[in-house]
Amino acid sequence: MSGINLISDTATLPTKGMLEAMFNAKVGDDVFSQDPTINRLQDFSAEMFGMEAGLFCPSGTMTNQIALAVHTGRLQEVICHEYSHIYQYETGGFAYNSGIGVKLLQGAKGKITVDQVAAAINPDYDWLAESSLVSLENTTNKGGGAYYTLEEIRPIGKLCKEKGLGFHLDGARIFNALVETGESPQDVGKEFDSISVCLSKGLGAPVGSVLLGSKDFIKKARRLRKAMGGGMRQAGYLAAACIYALENHIDRLKEDHARAKNLGKALQELDFVEGVHDVDTNIVIFDVKEPYDAARFLDTANKMGLIASPFGPRTIRFCTYLGINDEMIEDSINILKEINQNFLSLT
Ligand SMILES: *Cc1c(COP(=O)(O)O)cnc(C)c1O
Repeated sequence: MSGINLISDTATLPTKGMLEAMFNAKVGDDVFSQDPTINRLQDFSAEMFGMEAGLFCPSGTMTNQIALAVHTGRLQEVICHEYSHIYQYETGGFAYNSGIGVKLLQGAKGKITVDQVAAAINPDYDWLAESSLVSLENTTNKGGGAYYTLEEIRPIGKLCKEKGLGFHLDGARIFNALVETGESPQDVGKEFDSISVCLSKGLGAPVGSVLLGSKDFIKKARRLRKAMGGGMRQAGYLAAACIYALENHIDRLKEDHARAKNLGKALQELDFVEGVHDVDTNIVIFDVKEPYDAARFLDTANKMGLIASPFGPRTIRFCTYLGINDEMIEDSINILKEINQNFLSLT
């Protein structure tokens, strides 16, 4: 496939500066904790969020799955939105790795409220699964890039403490949220028992996520990472890219958001578009009208040089990221306008 790739912000390619940082990395065997660059990434990212310790993993799926496994056990369940990545897109790993169930909540744009969580915590009966963890996603992926503010997060954290539940953040795109709210990672870190952060999304590293938590939590997580086959050796070359991403690519996420908003605005004016969801960060979700459905629209767009992914029978997702510049957005809008002309002649 070639063309303008709006499929996902995982399509980022390392920049020249990032490749240089990787080339110059000092490395060692991380299974023996002897990779200085991985150690630096773990310390640096933990410090950023005011957490005690960090663990470098090959993917955000692994950081989330390890977090679930440390926080929970069999006959327990995690409370989360039905759109959650941990439920939708991790191959049912919650059941496979941890033997737990999920209590799924609904809510606009992939977000849940403290009242919903309070109502979802099971009372202590033998015949009910034990509620042991609440997991939030910020920003929401399937929810269209919406973000939580600390004001929304704090009461949920307080409730978890009162009820003795763990509180996990799937922060795959936490920095997309923070550049919008202006809140600090330290203040977010205070609220959660564990945080997963992806460096391989909009931040632009080729591979890698970090899991953050207390020293005791990370010690257990480290053992699980090995059991899952995630103990890597001289992976400091990858950690160097992640450090570079954290040092250089956070503020620029705002540019991705502005570009996504431009795309959303342009889509709103096109006849074949049924509706565009709110564009809060770098994700644009929209529905197409008959005779288009997602497959037919994507096929048409693909032939014209625009690649995206289906998000439902009539729903499409566009993602902006490092590597998608203003010119590509303009070209995309021109392609969409052309598709609109075709649509008008079809109908
Ligand atoms: C991408 C993503 C992850 C992790 O995905 P990997 O591809 O395994 O790194 C986790 N949560 C959310 C919300 C995501 O978008």
